[in-house]
This record gives sequence, structure tokens and C-alpha cells, in this order.
Amino acid sequence: MSKFNKLIASVEGSKLRALTHKTLQANIGNRCNQACSHCHLGACPESDDLMSWETMQDVVRIAESVDPELIDITGGAPELNPSLPKFLKALADGVHKVQVRTNLTVLQNSKHSGFMDLYRDLQIRLVASLPCHSEENVDEQRGKGVFKDSIRSLRELNKRGYGIEPELELNLVFNPDGPVLPPEQSQLETTYKEILSSKYGIYFNHLLTITNMPIGRFKQYLEGEQNVVEYQQLLENSFNPTTLEKLMCRHQICVGWDGLIYDCDFNFALKLPVFSTPRDANHFDSKSHLNREIVTGPHCFGCTAGCGSSCEGALED
Ligand code: SF4
Ligand code: SF4
Repeated sequence: MSKFNKLIASVEGSKLRALTHKTLQANIGNRCNQACSHCHLGACPESDDLMSWETMQDVVRIAESVDPELIDITGGAPELNPSLPKFLKALADGVHKVQVRTNLTVLQNSKHSGFMDLYRDLQIRLVASLPCHSEENVDEQRGKGVFKDSIRSLRELNKRGYGIEPELELNLVFNPDGPVLPPEQSQLETTYKEILSSKYGIYFNHLLTITNMPIGRFKQYLEGEQNVVEYQQLLENSFNPTTLEKLMCRHQICVGWDGLIYDCDFNFALKLPVFSTPRDANHFDSKSHLNREIVTGPHCFGCTAGCGSSCEGALED
């Protein structure tokens, strides 16, 4: 039995199992206009891995059948999948809350800037990456000029009411720029709000802190720094059993751009589909999926370290 599973068994008395279908997540492609050093997916501009419209229709059918609290669309840069507009229109039916994870810079390209109006019109919740309030740190992690473009997009979103009107929620994402755990989420949110409003006149709702997972491009970075073992040790030594109930894999359905079902986006990055069958979105079965045993690995310690981590930020404050 793996180290992670042994710990789970000692706390829960059994293997890690799913509990609810609160969130339906769809990763619609690995194409991104950026190639950030911490990316767990290794997304890049050259990728042709995009979710097909047929698989998107499967996702819509799953949403209709399980009625999740949130539909979470991620990538890559979701805006680079040409089917995103019709996918959003099919999902934003006034019943489901739909969220898109945007890297902000893609919205500065004239081909994609129209998404800001579409998001507003469909009242899409936005989760936007801004891993630091310092230009130097953001550009180092995400590429030269990324901070300035991100600030421009945030201003344009604020102008449309994002982060200001109650129905236009705008949340920002922080992740550390190296092999350390994120600081306490609510304190960092206060700092972000003070600096972004006073220096740039920018407003947002919440800051989500996310732990870097030791996979994908971040793992390559750790290997380059000869830090893989130390970082894994830090995650394991910081294991917090009170995070287990809230682990995102226990509360979601995750569909990859390949049409297969995963426990989470990290398992998708590692190409570890769910144990339960059927595994393809086209034949999704709610009952078997809900009772499934979750596929775990050493990377899972990234979700249970300290305050815990998920795509929706810290699991505990
Ligand atoms: S972290 Fe996000 S913005 Fe950066 S390369 Fe990966 S998908 Fe793109
Ligand atoms: S990486 Fe995190 S969310 Fe994914 S299966 Fe492991 S514990 Fe669950």
C-alpha cells in the first residue's frame, strides 16, 4: 500500500472514496498562449489537444443528469478552444453556476477580447491567475509582460462590473513561485486587495491560494533545482488529516479533453483515469462514479499539506 493510502486508512479506516458530485470540471484543452514554469499540465501554444464539441455535449448531458452546484471550465487557456462560446451558451442555462479559469493575458489578444463581454452577458464566474502582486515575480513565473497584460485585463473586467457587481464574481489565484507552501489565504487576500486597489485601482472578490503540485512543468523545475525529494518531503511532513473530508476529488467529476473521466485535473495531467467504469464521458454512470475509490499517488500530498489545497483554493483557513 502506498504511503498516502496508508495514512488515509489510518485516519478513515478505508481507501479514499468519493462523496458528492458538487462540481463538474471540464478541461477543454492543453493549448495556452503562455508556458508558465509552475504549470502542472505543461500547457503551451503549440498544443493541438482540444476537447471536441462531441465531448462538450457529453459534459452538458452529465450536467443535466447530476445537477452540480458548479461547472468549472479549465485548460490550457479555455478561450483557445474554438467551441468555447457554444459550450458556454449550452451550459449557462440559468440553472447552473458556470465558472471559467482564465489566464487574463489571452483576453488582450484582439481575437479573444470579445470573451469579456460574453462572460459578462452569461454571468460566468471568473477565476483568474495572478500569482503575485509584484510585476517581477509574475513575469519570472509566467513570462515577460504577463503582469502588465494581466492588469489591463483586470481593469477591463472591472469596467464590465466584474469584482464589483454581485453577480459578476472575479476571484484571483495565487501559487508560490518556488518549492514552499502558500501563506495563509485570508491574510494574503487582504494584502492583495490593499496593493491592487491602491496601486492599480483593481477590485476582486476572493483570493484562492493553490499549492504547486510536484508534477508536469513544476516537477521539471524541481528536477532542475535538484529539489524533488525535499519538496515531496515538505508536502508529506505537512500532512493535515482534517483536510481529507474536503479533498476536491471526493466532490467532483472531472472530464479531460480526451473524453475520459478523472478524479481531478492533476490525475488528468498524469493520465490516471478513474478506477470506476465506464471511464468515458459518453457513457457516464452517476451511481458507479459516486461510490468510486479514488486513484491516488505521491502528488496527493500536495492537496493535504498545511491548510490543504484545491482548484477552489485552501481547504481550511
Ligand atoms: S499555468 Fe495556466 S496560464 Fe500557465 S501555461 Fe499552464 S494553463 Fe497556461
Ligand atoms: S491530487 Fe488531490 S484531488 Fe487529485 S486525487 Fe489526489 S488528493 Fe484527490
